[in-house]
Amino acid sequence: MPELPEVETVRRGLLPVMEGRVIACATVNRPDLRFALPEGMAARLTGARVERLRRRSKYILADLSTEETLLIHLGMSGRMLISGVTLGAFHHDHPAPAKHDHVILDMEGGARVTFNDARRFGAMDLMPTAEAEAHWLLRGIGPEPLGNAFDEAYLVERLKGRKMPVKAALLDQKIVAGLGNIYVCEVLHRAGIDPRRAAGRLSSARVRSLVPIIRAVLLEAIEAGGSSLRDYRQADGELGYFQHTFRVYDREDEGCAREGCGGTVARIVQSGRSTFFCPRCQR
Ligand SMILES: [Zn+2]
Repeated sequence: MPELPEVETVRRGLLPVMEGRVIACATVNRPDLRFALPEGMAARLTGARVERLRRRSKYILADLSTEETLLIHLGMSGRMLISGVTLGAFHHDHPAPAKHDHVILDMEGGARVTFNDARRFGAMDLMPTAEAEAHWLLRGIGPEPLGNAFDEAYLVERLKGRKMPVKAALLDQKIVAGLGNIYVCEVLHRAGIDPRRAAGRLSSARVRSLVPIIRAVLLEAIEAGGSSLRDYRQADGELGYFQHTFRVYDREDEGCAREGCGGTVARIVQSGRSTFFCPRCQR
C-alpha cells in the first residue's frame, strides 16, 4: 500500500507532464472505483488546465483552471502510468488501454497519464478548490509531518494522556497525516521506542525526539523514490514504486540493524497489523 513517500514520489513524477498543462482529453472508463466517480467527470476535466499539483496526506490534488480540484487516491493497488513522452528514462508510446485502465488523461503536448487499479480501492473525486480541505476524505486529517504545523510541542500535546500504544498514535491520521504501518515501524526503531508503550507514558523528551526522526525517515524514503512491497516496473513508465530497504519492516528473525545492538527483529500483531521491532534496543 503506498504511503506518503510513494505518493509524494508519484506527485513529483507527474509534475512535469501535468502542472501548467491542459488536459486535452479525459477518458473515464467506468462509473466507480472504490466510490462512485463524480458525475460528468470526463467533460469536467477535458479542457481544464492543471494550475497546481499538490499533495495532502496520501492524496494527490490537482487544482484546475475551472476552480475545481481533482482528488486522486491510489488506494491499495492504484498506479499512475506515464506514456508518450520522453522524461528522463521514460520513453514509451501509448500502450493499448489495458484491462484496469480506469481513467486516462491525454495532456496537451502528448503525454498520457493513466490511472490503473486492478483492485479498485483507489478513489477520484472533483470538488470546488475553495472547499477542498472540507472534503469528507480530507477534513479532520492532522498536520503534514513535513510541514511547519507538525513540531515537538504539537506532538507532546497530542500524545499527552493517551493510553493507546505509541504505534497506534502515530498511525492515527488525526494526530499526524500520512504515516502508515511501514514507516511507523521504521520511526520507532530509529527512536529506540518500544511500539507497545502507551503514548502518554513516554517522557516528553522521547516524544520530542520522534519529530526529527519522522521527518528524516520520510525524507530519506522520498529521496529513494518511495518503496513498495511489490514488484513494480519503473521501466514501464510507472511512478512511485522503487526498491527501498527497511531496517525492521518485514525483517522478522533478522539481525537488528542498529550498530552494536545484536538483537533480533521480532514481529507482533497490533490492531490486526504486523509490527516489526527489536525487543533489545527498543524500550
Ligand atoms: Zn536492536
